[in-house]
Order: sequence, then C-alpha cells, then structure tokens
Amino acid sequence: MPHVITQSCCSDGSCVFACPVNCIHPTPDEPGFATAEMLYIDPAACVDCGACVSACPVGAIAPEATLTDSQLPFVELNAAFYPPRPPDEKVPPTSKLAPVPDAPVVRSRPDGPLRVAIVGSGPAAMYAADELLTQRGVRVTMFERLPTPYGLVRAGVAPDHQSTKRVTRLFDRVAARRELRLYLNVEVGTHLTHEDLLAHHHAVLYAVGAPNDRRLDVDGMGLPGTATATEVVAWYNGHPDYAALPVALDHRRAVVIGNGNVALDVARILTTDPDRLAATDIADHALAALRASRIDEVVVAARRGPAQSAFTLPELIGLTAACDVVLDAADHELVRRDLCDETDPLTRNKLEILAKLPDASAPATRPRIRLAYRLTPRRVTGATRADGVEFTVTGTDEVRRLDAGLVLSSIGYRGRPVAGLPFDEADGVVPNESGRVVDPASGRSAPGSYVAGWIKRGPTGFIGTNKSCAAQTVHTLVADYNAGALAVPSAGYGDLDRFVRERRPDVVDSQGWRAVDAAEIARGGDRRPRVKFTSVADMLQAAAAAPEPPLARRLLAGLLR
Ligand code: NAP
Repeated sequence: MPHVITQSCCSDGSCVFACPVNCIHPTPDEPGFATAEMLYIDPAACVDCGACVSACPVGAIAPEATLTDSQLPFVELNAAFYPPRPPDEKVPPTSKLAPVPDAPVVRSRPDGPLRVAIVGSGPAAMYAADELLTQRGVRVTMFERLPTPYGLVRAGVAPDHQSTKRVTRLFDRVAARRELRLYLNVEVGTHLTHEDLLAHHHAVLYAVGAPNDRRLDVDGMGLPGTATATEVVAWYNGHPDYAALPVALDHRRAVVIGNGNVALDVARILTTDPDRLAATDIADHALAALRASRIDEVVVAARRGPAQSAFTLPELIGLTAACDVVLDAADHELVRRDLCDETDPLTRNKLEILAKLPDASAPATRPRIRLAYRLTPRRVTGATRADGVEFTVTGTDEVRRLDAGLVLSSIGYRGRPVAGLPFDEADGVVPNESGRVVDPASGRSAPGSYVAGWIKRGPTGFIGTNKSCAAQTVHTLVADYNAGALAVPSAGYGDLDRFVRERRPDVVDSQGWRAVDAAEIARGGDRRPRVKFTSVADMLQAAAAAPEPPLARRLLAGLLR
C-alpha cells in the first residue's frame, strides 16, 4: 500500500532525503523542482516504510488506506507524475538517492579492493554499507556488539510503529550482499581493537550512534521509580541489556520530563490498551507488566511553552489519533497566547492541534496523556522510592508538585567516546569534517577513521536522515582512498574470518542472524510480527541452529576474499 503526498505538501524535499528507495520526485536536483506545485510518490516504487511520513515537516504524507475522501484525488495525482509501467516492475530497492552527488568512482588498485570496516549496524551503518556497495569490488565488514542488527530500528522505534520498522527490509537486502560480512556479538574495543580493524581494512567507519542518555541533574533522579525514557524504550523493545529494568507501574501517574518524540513514544505505550500492543513485537515481559499497570495518567512535562514543543507535527497527529490527550486550563491559555504571536506555519499547525485538545477537567474513560508546559524540574521527591516531582513554573518562584510513582527523564541522547578517537564533550560527537575524523587540537585527521549518523552529527533527525549523512561520509572516504591517503592494510582479508572467530568464538554471522530472525518470526505466529528473544543466551542458541551455508556460497565466499 503506497504512501501518498497530499495537499499540504511544502516541497522542502525532506521526504526525498528520508526515502530509502528514491521514489519521491522531482528531487531538489532535478529539472522542474523549482516550479513543481508539489512532490509526488511513485506508487510502483514505494516500499511503504513510512520514513517520508516522519521526515515531512507538515504532515502531508499518509498511507493510501488512511486518506480521507477529500484527499483521494491525490492518489491519482501522485501516480500521474510517473510514466506507466507494468505493475510488478519496481525501481531497484537499493537505488541511490538522486540529490546526493555521485561518489567518486573507486579507482582499482593492485593491492586489491577497497575494504571498509563499519562499526555498528543501525540505520547509519546500513545506509553507509548500501552506499559503499554501489561501487564494484568494494568489501565491507560490519561489526555489531549485540547478536542482532539494526540498532534503534529494532531497539528504539516504538512497537506500535511497525510500518517504520519496514525499513529493515532494505537493510536485510544490504546485509545479504555477498560483498558484506556481518559479525554480530563482537564488540570493537573489547574483542577487537581499532588497530586490528585497520590492519585488515583501509578504513574504519564508526556508526555507533549516541548510546548514552542525557541525564537530568536534579535531586532524586536515581531513586527507585526513576529511569530515563530511553531505558524504558529499550525495555519494551526487548533490548537484552534492559530486559530486567524495574519499571514502576504500580502508581496512577507517571511523569515524563521533556517533550520530544521519545517522550511521546513512551507516553503512548504506557497508555495504549495492552490488547492492541499484543499484536506488535513488544517484548513479552513489557506486555505482561503493562497488563498489570495501574497508570491512568502520563504527564509529559516541558520546561518551555507550547510553541517550543520538541515533538514533531506528524508525531503529534499520530498521538492524538491513537490516545486521549488533554491539556489543563492554564496550558490552554498558553496555547492561545502562543497562537496570537506565532507566524511560523509549522508551529501554528501544532498549536492549532493543541488548542483543540479536550480540557483535563473532562472525565477520563481510559488512561490518558496530559501535555504540560512551563514546568522546570526541581527535584524528585520520595524517601525510599519516587513519589512525585517538584517543578518550578518556568521563570517564576512558584513551585508545583505532581504525585507520581514513575518519573522518566526524556531529555535526549548523547554520544559516547570511541577509544582512540578525539571526542567533543560539549556536543557528544566525534569531531569530523564531512565524516572524516579530525582532531580539533592539532587539525589533523585520524588516519583511516570516519563517522556517520548520530556519533557524527548528534542525536537529531529521523531514520532516513542517516542516508544522506552516511552518503557524505562514504564520498569523503572514497575520495581519500583515491587520493592515496589511506594506508594499505598490513593483514590479508582472507585471514579476517579466522582472526575474528579466534577472538570471539561466539560470533554470529549473517547466516546466524537469519536463523534468529526466522525463529522470532515463527514465535510470533499468526498474530504478531515476531516475538523477540530478550536474552543474549537465547539469541545465541537460535543462531546456533543456523544451517551450514550451501557449498556454492562457501566457495563464492572464498573467491571474494
Ligand atoms: P529531543 O527532541 O531533543 O527533545 C528533548 C526534550 O528534552 C526537549 O523537550 C527539551 O526541552 C527537553 N530538555 C532538555 N534538557 C532538559 C532539562 N535539563 N530539563 C528539562 N527538559 C529538558 O530528544 P528526543 O525526544 O530524545 O529525540 C531525539 C531525536 O530522535 C529527535 O530528532 C527525534 O525527532 C528523534 N525521534 C524521532 C521519532 C519519530 O520520528 N517517531 C521517535 C523518537 C525519536 P527544550 O526544548 O526546552 O530544550
């Protein structure tokens, strides 16, 4: 079921960059873009991943099945932009994104193909691999700490946003490429060093994301009953490091501090009917806990006003469609005031939705979400566990207290230093120029070291944003390789597999991942997309059931060394 661009299209092209299959046109570099009345999705090429929906700043894109009667003419309008083609003919799914200039062609060299190690297997890593493998002869080795790939797509995207997870279909195709070797359950820094990787590759590209939470520095955070929203996200998504996280659902109210998209995700999951979640890939332990939950209100508390809300318009629209969302009278007044001042159309759209929300004084019929504004967190109260939060009304001395048994900070992610590379403490990123790691103190680049994704640019944007980000890094890397700036690896590529398995006998390769994937899908049965394994031991056991690759594939793997 393809997605459709509708009347409110703002033509800023964000969706073009987010789309993993290049099915939205005209792109900013195509003739006609400047004069186009809107952009159009090719229904034959759309893979329905929903990446464009997240990226669209004006909420103009929707799956065809959800259009209102007045929007139906846009189905035809989108399709009419493209030449007719047989219904089963698709644009190649890993086609390159048009607006990113073509990477320099890798110049073949007598010392063998360009070999790149990618650390991480989330969206930035997968898009970087996809971009590298558009070039003939390039070899990619991907290392991931967990026995399962795809980073935040698996462990971060909310379970009720299954369509967003469809981007893994693209990633599966990239991971299945013969020129890519996948080594899961291998931690660079523990089992292998940066130097080990450089000995076997011309370059190491870190796409390790921003795995730390920004911590809220107020008294009481750390008490039982407090956590970060991202920990709770990892818990309900079955991340093995967080399966045992204690999440206090035995009180009627939870408070989430911060109002970005992560806060909305958590608030939505905490208030959604567990019977609906039972049809998703939410972790079984989380589903059981949510069934027993006593929470009937989640307050999402922002320190600034409605016009500065950090959540995006599509996520607000999605939230109000899925959940009961209310504002109290004082916050309705703030919305009205902001509406009088605000001229930015995107923010006005958000404010208009907020203005229409029911008042918090209306009786609740099911668990609900209250968006609250101008509340600066002061401390979490409670002697042995959290029992509430004290805020000051921002800009005043007035103190307000909310009872709560669960207090979650949701104030953003933060990158973690990478051993051997410079680190920018202020921004939580590895300093770089177009993806090439550069030490700001000396101005020198770190030989053979590159970054992509959140560790490169900070924790902003959507899954699809990583596509152009990764492409930029790959272009830099290839240009450096062609210029002779990358040292020839000292070790042969043929030795790598043995070397990795010696260091990490429990390594899970692509065959092992496919076995884990198939086992999880089988556990899901007819009703659920999958039932995840939530312990490393169970994942390894499922991976061990992988059949030996067929002889032909083993022979081919030998030839590709
Ligand atoms: P975010 O969008 O950066 O929001 C952070 C929130 O924390 C803001 O409300 C910010 O308020 C608040 N904050 C920061 N420091 C604070 C403090 N000391 N005290 C109180 N509040 C504080 O972060 P996020 O929600 O973690 O999202 C990260 C990225 O992932 C974003 O780009 C987001 O769009 C993306 N994401 C997207 C989706 C989706 O598309 N479905 C889902 C999840 C995440 P101020 O504005 O006042 O600083």
